[in-house]
Amino acid sequence: MDNQDLFDITIIGGGTTGLFATYYATMRGMKVKLLESQSQFGGKVMQFFPEKLIYDVGGFPAISGEDLVQQMIAQAERHQPVMLTDQWVETIDNDGKHFTLQTSSGDRHLSKSVLLATGSGTFHTKRSDDWHALPYPAFRKQVPTNLMNREKYADKKVVIASNNKVGVGWALYLKDKAESVTIINPDSSFHQVKQNDLDLLLKSSVQVHFQTAFTDLFMENDRLQAIEISNSENEKHIIDAEEILTFHGLELEPTPFDKWEIETRKARITVKGNMATNVSGIFAAGDIVQYDGKTNLIASGYTEAITAINKAHKFIDPTVTEQLYSTVIYRG
Ligand SMILES: Cc1cc2nc3c(=O)[nH]c(=O)nc-3n(C[C@H](O)[C@H](O)[C@H](O)COP(=O)(O)OP(=O)(O)OC[C@H]3O[C@@H](n4cnc5c(N)ncnc54)[C@H](O)[C@@H]3O)c2cc1C
Repeated sequence: MDNQDLFDITIIGGGTTGLFATYYATMRGMKVKLLESQSQFGGKVMQFFPEKLIYDVGGFPAISGEDLVQQMIAQAERHQPVMLTDQWVETIDNDGKHFTLQTSSGDRHLSKSVLLATGSGTFHTKRSDDWHALPYPAFRKQVPTNLMNREKYADKKVVIASNNKVGVGWALYLKDKAESVTIINPDSSFHQVKQNDLDLLLKSSVQVHFQTAFTDLFMENDRLQAIEISNSENEKHIIDAEEILTFHGLELEPTPFDKWEIETRKARITVKGNMATNVSGIFAAGDIVQYDGKTNLIASGYTEAITAINKAHKFIDPTVTEQLYSTVIYRG
């Protein structure tokens, strides 16, 4: 995609900060593009705790991470900004007229200003070694790495491929809802698991296979029927399975701030009240910024996004008013 359209602001990172910034900038009448490297929006909330209830976002007494992100996407889409996934921004250049952002797939995006809402980077899901040798790559690619849409596991034969506390947590949640739950762990123990959870797991109906690898998948009409596993003695077993979940931890790919000539300190961007970075026209907000009194919370990112957008707006058009109430904007 070699897009010659010039945007007022390009927001890098579609976590909660970037999503809210996208909405707010369009509400202020800016032409906005959002670039997210993952195939879904929501950042850490979707990758670490989509199923957990969040209690410290104003207006929601309690809301799951997934529901909050769905609401934020709906809000961000209100004024039809360009919102793209699978776009890892690799380089940012400025020819004196505007910024050119280039992604790992070679796409170019032109912008008058930039907002970094990147958190520390992007988290990739690790897979066990045996996983890559299995057949049906298209099926494997869409195997969930989180417990979203959890209702779909009710009365199903579920296999969890995991070597850590996340897989144990899923098994404990599903044990009384699914028809059967089996954990396949390539290691001899679970990482970071609480003893209490492990005791509950081992006393439950969940079948746990340690030091065991996946060796085959059996599919019929695109539906999983069974898996084949092999233990440390090379004994093979076939287990009926309708659904698989996998989690073997996450790996951080840091955002390339050095390449972008953005100054960082202890991997964070130090900002003052105006959310500006050291590069004129590039602003930052959310978990990536650091200032005295900073909190790493979803709601902090909202306020920082508002400030950053208003400053970026003023940067590209010095005549604009910095603050406007939405009640005034939408008065009709
Ligand atoms: C386990 C856990 C529980 C938490 N619980 C709460 C809670 O109860 N309440 C609360 O308020 N906060 C909570 N937090 C903190 C909250 O998750 C963060 O404050 C919030 O998610 C930060 O959002 P963000 O958009 O700034 O960053 P992120 O969510 O990190 O989003 C950054 C996005 O930028 C993308 N990105 C990075 N680099 C690039 C690039 N080069 N190109 C394209 N895209 C890029 C990433 O893929 C990512 O999607 C919790 C955090 C954790 C880990």
